[in-house]
Amino acid sequence: MILSKENANVNTLMISEISNNINYIRKAINRSAAESELDPAAVTLIAVSKGQPIEKIEAALIAGQRVFAENRIQEAESKWLNYRTCYDNIELHLICPLQTNKVSKAVKIFDVIQTIDRPKLAWKIAKETEKQNRRLTCYIQVNTGEENHKAGVTPSSADAFIARCRDGFGLNIAGLMCIPPVNDNSILHFAMLREIAKRNNIANLSMGMSNDFEKAVKMGATHVRIGTAIFNKSK
Ligand SMILES: *Cc1c(COP(=O)(O)O)cnc(C)c1O
Repeated sequence: MILSKENANVNTLMISEISNNINYIRKAINRSAAESELDPAAVTLIAVSKGQPIEKIEAALIAGQRVFAENRIQEAESKWLNYRTCYDNIELHLICPLQTNKVSKAVKIFDVIQTIDRPKLAWKIAKETEKQNRRLTCYIQVNTGEENHKAGVTPSSADAFIARCRDGFGLNIAGLMCIPPVNDNSILHFAMLREIAKRNNIANLSMGMSNDFEKAVKMGATHVRIGTAIFNKSK
């Protein structure tokens, strides 16, 4: 495992490839935001590094990327506790369903948990952040397509759950996140998420992935989660 930029496991070709990908996406974000008369600077590009080899992640770090997302606690722990010691301003998001027995570790590793979707989980996160004296940014995942296999609160229960997380558990609910059904037009889901956020006074919208981030930005996404378009396919 590397510890400094000088001996990172990267080659210059990989750095320029990933750097080009990031620049290309950034330009597309800026264009989409401008088309909707939104501020491009309000959109954060999250690099989804799950399953990627360390060479590619280090290339992204060297290219200047600082906001990343992971979906396995164990994998995130081994990589990111280390990277945090060599790179400043890293912001790490958790974007997969979280089991309550892993909350303690998640609170230690992540800055943002995007997938809060049940009272027991919200309660445990509140308890752990207090215990570890951590400031954590919380997003609620909304299952906008009401798919059985997908995590998230249903749209109709979102308002009550948001209120309970805030008033009952004292969580800092700063955003909402959704993953639209694969075969739907994601615009409708992005619009729904935006509506729920608006009426609950929530600033951040985590929506849009490699194949639909431009649509998401036009609909007001503040955070897009991009894996494939930055790193190509994971293993
Ligand atoms: C993997 C993943 C992404 C990134 O998807 P790409 O299509 O590779 O950009 C975004 N969000 C979540 C929740 C994911 O699991």
